[in-house]
Amino acid sequence: MSVAARPLFAFDNSYVRDLRGLYEPWQAAPAPAPRLLALNEDLATELGVDAEALSAPDGVAVLVGNVTPEGASPVAQAYAGHQFGGFAPRLGDGRALLLGEVLDVHGRRRDLHQKGSGRTPFARAGDGKAAVGPMLREYVIGEAMHALGIPTTRALAVVATGDQVLRETMLPGAVLTRVAASHLRVGTFQYAAAQGDPALVRRLADHAIARHHPHAVEAENPYLALFEAVLDAQASLVARWMLVGFVHGVMNTDNMAISGETIDFGPCAFMDAFDPATVFSSIDHGGRYAYGNQPQVAQWNLARLAETMLPLFHVEAETAVAAATDLLHAFPDRYDAYWGRGMRAKLGLADGRPENGALIDDLLSSMLAQGVDFSSCFRALSSSVLGEASRARSLFAEPAAFDAWSDRWRAQLSSQACDPQAIAAAMDRVNPVYIPRNHQVEEALTAATAGDLEPFRRLLDVLAEPFDERPGLEAYAAPAPPSCGPYRTFCGT
Ligand code: AMP
Ligand code: MG
Repeated sequence: MSVAARPLFAFDNSYVRDLRGLYEPWQAAPAPAPRLLALNEDLATELGVDAEALSAPDGVAVLVGNVTPEGASPVAQAYAGHQFGGFAPRLGDGRALLLGEVLDVHGRRRDLHQKGSGRTPFARAGDGKAAVGPMLREYVIGEAMHALGIPTTRALAVVATGDQVLRETMLPGAVLTRVAASHLRVGTFQYAAAQGDPALVRRLADHAIARHHPHAVEAENPYLALFEAVLDAQASLVARWMLVGFVHGVMNTDNMAISGETIDFGPCAFMDAFDPATVFSSIDHGGRYAYGNQPQVAQWNLARLAETMLPLFHVEAETAVAAATDLLHAFPDRYDAYWGRGMRAKLGLADGRPENGALIDDLLSSMLAQGVDFSSCFRALSSSVLGEASRARSLFAEPAAFDAWSDRWRAQLSSQACDPQAIAAAMDRVNPVYIPRNHQVEEALTAATAGDLEPFRRLLDVLAEPFDERPGLEAYAAPAPPSCGPYRTFCGT
């Protein structure tokens, strides 16, 4: 007697059930010679999936899109979006498919989504493909963000297709399978609103409430409560990015998730020397998505979200606009609260002292003036607390300003009646020693594209414990040597 193999995933596809009109059923293009490059075993376990089964040929066939797993209902999701400020009414998954949703071992609903799986009805001029380098890049950055405690989509696997992809050169192709709380975007609401069917926006909002902000149901105005929850999640998220020097790179409204997870961070990179004007993306000529602009861009994107929901906020347009405007105007304060709390933790400062704001600003000004590495500097400060000031001081070419700042900061700390060991340890838990340094990421991806995955795996290992300083890993903690020149990223599309 044969026993049917247990399905790989226990799918339950609420998006497809609830949101007809916001997707096209579709199948992945076949991949000629799939080869598993990376599998996220921890994430597989979290999903309740057997990692061994996933890495066997039948599992890899699913991960590359050659086999539709039992229970999946693959669709290309429809969305619109403001790209660099200009509205595109029909973007959608041009080279990606939502396979379906699974409930993880904690009972959380997670999307399984494949990118690089061939052209879809939304592909426009695109080839539907993705190259190994950019997909492994999304894998490693997602894992780094996750280890830093920042909400993010995560890669489950990257499988080389055996196909070649034409970019500036021919590159090996790949499919990324990623996991997200959902793929609802600001752009999904924009698409729904542009269909001229208010019932569709309402269905989408109800779906978003049920999925991400269920408490909103009990509010007097559930849709306004949904908007407020999204706004708050974004204020918190962008503050977390800023606190580790993360530059998303392409904060178009189609790349902003309703869940508050970091998503679609293709040309992203981490800042070395502190500078609000930092831009890495080769296509961001005007610096719209520069490090220091990210909070304002988030607020701008949230205004676009509010516009789609105005009829849900109130039947009277004026009342709806006034309610949305009130919330939008509160964004900077909410953002500042998250940022300030995070910065005080980075500096070991207790909450609630007005002089702390000036301490934060003055340190950042000195760092900017002297081109000091953001992550190294914050990490070094815990040594100062323990009486070894040279580590931070040596990062400043002209240390006088730092010395003066340090005296004020130390005076503040000593007034807190807290054990220096405890302060230093708490600082080390929020100031990473290892971030994905751009030159390290590039080196790992170049090697992987040429067939050597060792540097990529080593980098993943280092970044999995970003706060835990380990001997022998000094090269991963240091900024790029000046010989690397200015860093540029590309969308890889
Ligand atoms: P992104 O910049 O990756 O967030 O993508 C923006 C839009 O372009 C989305 O609608 C994508 O689905 C689409 N897109 C990007 N690259 C490709 C590609 N190679 N083939 C088809 N569509 C693509
Ligand atoms: Mg995108």
